[in-house]
Amino acid sequence: MFAAIVFAAITGLVIGSFLNVVIHRLPLGESVVTPRSRCPHCGHEITAIENVPVLSWLFLRGKCRECKAPISPRYPLVELGTGILWAAVVAGAWDDGARIALGLILVTALVPITAIDLEHRRIPNVITGPTAIALIVAGLALDLSGEPTRLMWAVIVAGPFFALALIMSRSMGLGDAKLMGVMGLALGRAVIPALFIAFFAGTLVGLWIMSRHGRQSRKTAVPFGPFLALGALIAFFVGDDIVQWYLDDVIG
Ligand SMILES: [Zn+2]
Repeated sequence: MFAAIVFAAITGLVIGSFLNVVIHRLPLGESVVTPRSRCPHCGHEITAIENVPVLSWLFLRGKCRECKAPISPRYPLVELGTGILWAAVVAGAWDDGARIALGLILVTALVPITAIDLEHRRIPNVITGPTAIALIVAGLALDLSGEPTRLMWAVIVAGPFFALALIMSRSMGLGDAKLMGVMGLALGRAVIPALFIAFFAGTLVGLWIMSRHGRQSRKTAVPFGPFLALGALIAFFVGDDIVQWYLDDVIG
């Protein structure tokens, strides 16, 4: 098991390195495949040795080797975060292959969604769409009997927002709703505690910002995607236990 967790961590680091490219280029409408990455400051082409997850950033002390322009700490953080999340999913869902697969797909999507929503205040369809398809395919292949439940929860949590947009015949930003659907496909009934955690954390942070910057600051809205991602992560590990505890001890 230890070897598998180390392998997952290393794979996560490498995938995190690719997610950095996605986070940087996708909102600009650029290809995530070609060309090779360059320093945005001087155009210096990033070589393989300068592209080792986390380590290169540390050795270069967060600066371009050529022009010494600072490289955002977001790069090593995304790599480290993805590595830790991959290891945590494999360790936390160890005896359940389907859960591992759904969890890895989920966290791999949540990392760029969080980073892009924080910076650009939107959640791209080109991330939520393929993620939803990957979750359904993995669910059907590895846990066929559980798939109807996950599909149902995805429709329950995301459906009302789409219905509302349809009724109001207005193109609303449905990025958050689509992310909720993705969470339902990955978490099943655990999507409910995930949403509670997201709304609770989002409200707390919203109140905190208002208390510091006054009521006007409500207009400089905080993106909700990162809170949904936080709720999804917590719920992936303990959401089912929370639901079971609620059903057994609170209702039952
Ligand atoms: Zn440079």
